[in-house]
Amino acid sequence: MQEVSEIFKRLSRDKSKREIAYFTMEIALENDIPSYSGGLGVLAGDTLRSAADLGIPIVGVTLLQQYGYFHQGLDPSGHQIETDVRWHPELKLQQLPNYVEINIEDRKVRVHIWEYDVVGKFGYVVPVYFLDVNIPENSQKDRELNKHLYGGDQYTRLCQEIILGIGGIRVLRDLGYRDIKHYHLNEGHASLLALELIRESGYSSYDKIKQGCIFTTHTPVAAGHDVFDFNLVRQVLKPVYIDYLLEILEGEHPVNLTTISLKLSNFVNGVSMKHAEVSRDMFNYYKVEAITNGVHSATWTAPSFQRLYNQYIPGWDNDPMHFARAVFIPDEDLWKAHMVAKGKLLRFVEDETGIRMKLDRLTIAFARRAAAYKRADLLFSDLERLTKIASDKVQFVFAGKAHPKDKEGKQVILNVFDGLNKLKGKVDIAYLENYDMNLGAMITAGVDVWLNNPQRPREASGTSGMKAAHNGVLNFSVLDGWWIEGCLEAVTGWAIGPEPNKVNLADYDERQDIEDLYQKLETVLIPLYYKDRSGWIRMMKNAIAINATYFNTHRMIMEYALKAYHVAPLFQ
Ligand SMILES: *Cc1c(COP(=O)(O)O)cnc(C)c1O
Repeated sequence: MQEVSEIFKRLSRDKSKREIAYFTMEIALENDIPSYSGGLGVLAGDTLRSAADLGIPIVGVTLLQQYGYFHQGLDPSGHQIETDVRWHPELKLQQLPNYVEINIEDRKVRVHIWEYDVVGKFGYVVPVYFLDVNIPENSQKDRELNKHLYGGDQYTRLCQEIILGIGGIRVLRDLGYRDIKHYHLNEGHASLLALELIRESGYSSYDKIKQGCIFTTHTPVAAGHDVFDFNLVRQVLKPVYIDYLLEILEGEHPVNLTTISLKLSNFVNGVSMKHAEVSRDMFNYYKVEAITNGVHSATWTAPSFQRLYNQYIPGWDNDPMHFARAVFIPDEDLWKAHMVAKGKLLRFVEDETGIRMKLDRLTIAFARRAAAYKRADLLFSDLERLTKIASDKVQFVFAGKAHPKDKEGKQVILNVFDGLNKLKGKVDIAYLENYDMNLGAMITAGVDVWLNNPQRPREASGTSGMKAAHNGVLNFSVLDGWWIEGCLEAVTGWAIGPEPNKVNLADYDERQDIEDLYQKLETVLIPLYYKDRSGWIRMMKNAIAINATYFNTHRMIMEYALKAYHVAPLFQ
């Protein structure tokens, strides 16, 4: 592959060949670059990792936060202790000599640029540009605009979005990207880039701008979208942009970034079939396509499974179709790889919490952002019943951070700790601190079952269950997001609760989910795990063969390439 690699490297340096710019507020590139808070950032990272592997001509644009997202500690009753992450961009990124200026209120703010290179399997490079305002030339107030990811008030958030959107376009121009044909907005945060494109084009026509913008929405509830008071926007943005805004919004107040994204994008998509349907309903906009999310297979497959796949299905890491042949992997080898991943997690659990879990016990994880709608505490609805079902049979691993301002999310963690403490001595339950990429990879590979029970239809897609499937870990989940497309009952995993209902959120009975969760755990999962191990292993192989084949970012970015970017990958 030496020659291919050289060609790719050369192509990587030719800026005129880059056709797509991917704008994202957060991105998970490495565990120790704290520029992500959850699924949105992990998706952005996985998207660019797949783009680099396949040779999709894309570049990334994001913000450099001084402290990024916080580090989570937990006290014995589950109170979250938040500390700033001190990281050193100069150890992870390369600072470029270039800089641009933008206006915030009547101030000029200088934006410096740092580069991170995502290097694909064959040497093709996808650069990611981090925009930095924490520099001596800026006032103290401006230096602190990007202190924390999703931190600060409305004013700060608007400024961050100006830096990302307007600053981002100027940065691309300054770096010499003149042939970008598509601007991909990963969520509405980046929508102000459209205003800069309009200004740049000499205010020609919105239609031309619209041809170039692609908007991926991720939030199935109206309250989750960025909305700013018009007066605030007028205070911060230069008048020229306000004129465009007035025209775009056609008198709509306040300023909703999702509205701007919808109006100025030619291609709009949700991140699963169900989410696209919910979005069509919410936006009253029929043209919302569905491109279901994925994960980057090589990143989220545990080392023991990588070795297994290299042996039995070589080529899996750049062509996920190979996963279809996972059904032929011998049972013993698959189970051995699973035991290695499980042993690693259980050792970590013991080191961190002192809880000595058993390798041969059915182990279930619930790890994700502690947002209220994800209902981490649902399992503890009936402690007596849970004790009866789980004691001596099931052990549980939890993890997840609540956003510092999310009181409800913090309450959910407290509820989990309450249940965990009450069940001490009866059921082993560990809550691991500081859920991040590394922990995510270890947990999604190291348990037997991946539990997910969000309120329908609030899980736009969910991706952690896809990581689980890559490692033969079985999903046990409410039918929402990707799982509606991935669940074949008792073949790839199990559903919790009723079939997906209509989009109405209020139309919902939580008791059905609780009943089904307990019932299936007791009468289906536990008996299968202990009495029919080969049946269990068959399901593990099905999950890999049916789910990992499809729910990966190689497939996903090829869909974007075909339907939205209109480019062909260099490789494949
Ligand atoms: C994969 C991942 C997520 C996304 O998981 P969901 O299924 O959307 O909850 C969030 N955080 C981390 C650290 C992850 O690795």
